[in-house]
Amino acid sequence: MKILTILGARPQFIKAGTVSRKIMEHNQLLVDGFSFLEKEEQKKLETKNQKLIAEIIIHTGQHYDANMSDIFFEEMKIPKPDYFLGIGGKSHGAMTGQMIEKIEEVALKEKPDWIMVYGDTNSTLAGAIVASKLHIKLAHVEAGLRSFNMKMPEEVNRILTDRVSDILFCPTQTAVENLKKEGFPFKLSTNNHQLIINVGDVMQDGAIFYKNLAQKPITNTPITNNYILCTIHRAENTDEPQRLKAIFEALNEIAKETQIILPLHPRTKQKLTNIQITNNNLTIIDPVGYLEMVWLIDNCSLVMTDSGGLQKEAYFFEKPCITLRDETEWVELVELGVNTLVGADKEKILNTYKQITNNQSTNTQIYQSTNLYGGGKASENIIKELFTYNSTFTL
Ligand code: UDP
Repeated sequence: MKILTILGARPQFIKAGTVSRKIMEHNQLLVDGFSFLEKEEQKKLETKNQKLIAEIIIHTGQHYDANMSDIFFEEMKIPKPDYFLGIGGKSHGAMTGQMIEKIEEVALKEKPDWIMVYGDTNSTLAGAIVASKLHIKLAHVEAGLRSFNMKMPEEVNRILTDRVSDILFCPTQTAVENLKKEGFPFKLSTNNHQLIINVGDVMQDGAIFYKNLAQKPITNTPITNNYILCTIHRAENTDEPQRLKAIFEALNEIAKETQIILPLHPRTKQKLTNIQITNNNLTIIDPVGYLEMVWLIDNCSLVMTDSGGLQKEAYFFEKPCITLRDETEWVELVELGVNTLVGADKEKILNTYKQITNNQSTNTQIYQSTNLYGGGKASENIIKELFTYNSTFTL
């Protein structure tokens, strides 16, 4: 089976890297005479000689800085991309258009059985459009997520990608329900329907695997025993000066009593120059690699973020999370009471911080008694499902 993986942005290196590791493990097991596929499944595949997986990776170049891209390939031992398209730092239209053109060239040359796309970036959408136009099977990892805010570029990308995917790999039951409410699964051709499967979240696989490899980052300002980990990069915050200002005013206030470590996204760094604010109290550092990030999450007392991935990682590492957004795709965390949405409202941010710090009796039970994201088997499930699909429906 030949898979063409499309990636381009930081969260995709982490998600796809986890699946790539499982693909390598799968191939190695076959060489050693074992397999994590069911016996029945193996028998069917033997006849088709489709047991090994050839993964071809395209890096679109959406994120290309050393600390937003290269470090993840080195640290997480992600296979080097076979194609680097170098398309970054452009408008949505120019970026997506150029990606479609280049991915199409590679797909025509490589003739994969599957195109695999991850998440909700412009690279995801470009890969989806190529697959659907060339009639190549499309698998979407992290399907079905919705913020119900069409102003978010990510929401548009994920809805369009879901609509043309052959397999929708959902990370949660909520994602499955979202799709059903929208009328999914759709018929894609006369004898082809979409498949919707809750496989769990690949990010949990990564969090479990890399926890033991975590590394303390080297920083100019020492890291204290009680710090808040914060990230901000969502366009809805960085592109709205009022929101960005309110968030940073609240952060500076909180940092007077608790250290805030902020690995600063390049986009936010650029936008911060437009607002009049001094960040003397914050421990601002360059973006870190995943092993350092895992250390920072594992050792912090609280997470404050507008990131999608970090909200879940806070849960994986049993930390409360304040989400600096008006809505979230990970609603189950809010319902569980471990994540609070505060938007960019300064008072709400400060009050929620006070509430959480005053209520020190963290209920670890709440984390340990729930299994919202599949427990770390998502990558394995994805591989099994692709094989099942291939042996059920002829390629
Ligand atoms: N991350 C990282 N280094 C950083 C900041 C974030 O490795 O300096 C990781 C973070 O732990 C998570 C992923 O990057 O796994 C999230 O990426 P991001 O917040 O950029 O995107 P989102 O999840 O919002 O799509």
